[in-house]
Parts: sequence; C-alpha cells; structure tokens
Amino acid sequence: MLTAPFALTRPCPDEKIKLSNFLSEEIVGMLKFLADDMVGKLARRLRLAGYDTLYFKHIDDGQMVTRARAEERIIVTRDRKLADKFHLENVYIVGSEVPAEQFRQVVKAFDLDVKSEAFSRCLECNELLVPAKKEDHKAEIPPRVYRLHNTFFRCPGCKKLYWRGSHYARLKEMLSASEGES
Ligand SMILES: [Zn+2]
Repeated sequence: MLTAPFALTRPCPDEKIKLSNFLSEEIVGMLKFLADDMVGKLARRLRLAGYDTLYFKHIDDGQMVTRARAEERIIVTRDRKLADKFHLENVYIVGSEVPAEQFRQVVKAFDLDVKSEAFSRCLECNELLVPAKKEDHKAEIPPRVYRLHNTFFRCPGCKKLYWRGSHYARLKEMLSASEGES
C-alpha cells in the first residue's frame, strides 16, 4: 500500500509533485509505473529511462488497479474516468496525445532521473538486461554490428539482444531533451 493518499487526477505539467509528502523514501528513490493501453509509447520511454513499467495491451481495469496497488505502482493513463471509478490514489493522467510530450510531463511531474539507469531495461518486456558476450551470439548479430561493437546486452525474458548502435545517440538525445523546460 502507498503510505498516504496520492491523488493526481488532473494533468499538471507545470507542477512538480512532492512525492516525499506521499510516499516512503524507498519508493520515491525508484518509482514504478503501470501504463495502460492508451499510453504504450510512453511506457517504452519510461523503460528506456530505466523505470520499471508494466504495460498491457489488453487488461481489465479492475485487474490493472489491483496489480498497481499490490506492487505500489503509479498508473499512467489518459483515462480521466478511471481514477473516479476506482477511487484511485496512485494515478497520473497524462494530458497530451503526443508520446514525447507525455514523457516530458511525467519526467517533470515526478522529477525523474532519466540518465542514471537509462538503457538498463528491455523495451519489449521490462526485464533488466544482462551483459552478453558477443561471441556467444554471433549468428544473431549482423556482421557489421559484430565488427564495430563489443558491448552487448541480452534480455533474459524475450532474449532480444541490445547494443549501442546508431540509434543509441538518438535515444540519449531524446532522454536529455525530456529534461528541458519546453
Ligand atoms: Zn525482453
């Protein structure tokens, strides 16, 4: 359970939320999220920034709420009715339809650190990545990538391989931009 009521039922992109007023220090240190089917791209961005974020394409509202409560996750959604329907305390309603803007809103609202743990999670299934030896996966890696890169990570869940290729710089830039004041 959350340590105190946590009501964020309106978009508040211009306010920083004082989480220490609501949550224990341990939870504030590494927030966990649950994204509903309306904000899948936001979920991927949160994972990219290293935040433990569950995402379900199809999940019953009741199940979603139960899971978020049990695991002390903040629900991020565009569904304004959800909070009222379930008397939710741990929900954040994103105002924008644009994923990049949604991400900026959440980063700002919760004062997220998008750099320390960035690139540590699988974007597909949320698992923490583990280092992988490229020699062990030669058959799966394009030859050019194999020649140019030495640092690889693997998802223990879906087995996807990650490396810091050309998209890495772009994603890093995106994370930095999300901290801006725009
Ligand atoms: Zn995975």
